[in-house]
Amino acid sequence: MKEIHCDVIQDLLPLYYDDVCSKETEILIEKHLASCPVCQKELENMQDTTEILHVEMESRKQDEKMMRKMASSIQKMKKKSTYKGMGFAALICLVLFGAYYSLVEWDIQQVQSSHFTISNVAQLENGTITYNVNFLDDYDVMRVKYSSDEKGNFYMTPLRPIIKMKKQHPIGDGHEEFNLENMSNGKEIKALYYGSPDDAVLIWKKGMQLPE
Ligand SMILES: [Zn+2]
Repeated sequence: MKEIHCDVIQDLLPLYYDDVCSKETEILIEKHLASCPVCQKELENMQDTTEILHVEMESRKQDEKMMRKMASSIQKMKKKSTYKGMGFAALICLVLFGAYYSLVEWDIQQVQSSHFTISNVAQLENGTITYNVNFLDDYDVMRVKYSSDEKGNFYMTPLRPIIKMKKQHPIGDGHEEFNLENMSNGKEIKALYYGSPDDAVLIWKKGMQLPE
């Protein structure tokens, strides 16, 4: 049989490698391979290449798996951080609201005695003391705290929030009445002050003669 050229064998090698050639071709190729190191080498190269391809595909699959895992964990992290972010934002809102509320609504600041005047103090027949409170600045007093001590001193402390509100419906302004008996709570009131024990204006004291 005439020697087949290496080019022809190498053209057929892929078919042989994939096991899709005819029996006759197979025999021909194997005969040639047995005596031709060049074509043997070519077949080995094909095997190596396939191996590399296979390994590459495997590693690509692995990479893909990894990427997918990473992507999903990033997604999870994102979700978590979104919740965290929302929680944090809500917390800040709450703190700000709390701060605003306490500054505006909490009547914790005492009005200094220099900011108001007491006038027209008088006593009604039933003992009720009447007086006028006039706040000299333009801010509301929304709350008056009552307190008394052992000596029978009674204090009416006007309070304001730290952020003051402009006058709208002042309760401290104008005419006020104070019923000694109703407010005594079982303990005799000997003196009545407007302000706090540290900073107060005396309205009435036991023994003081008031116009009726
Ligand atoms: Zn050959």
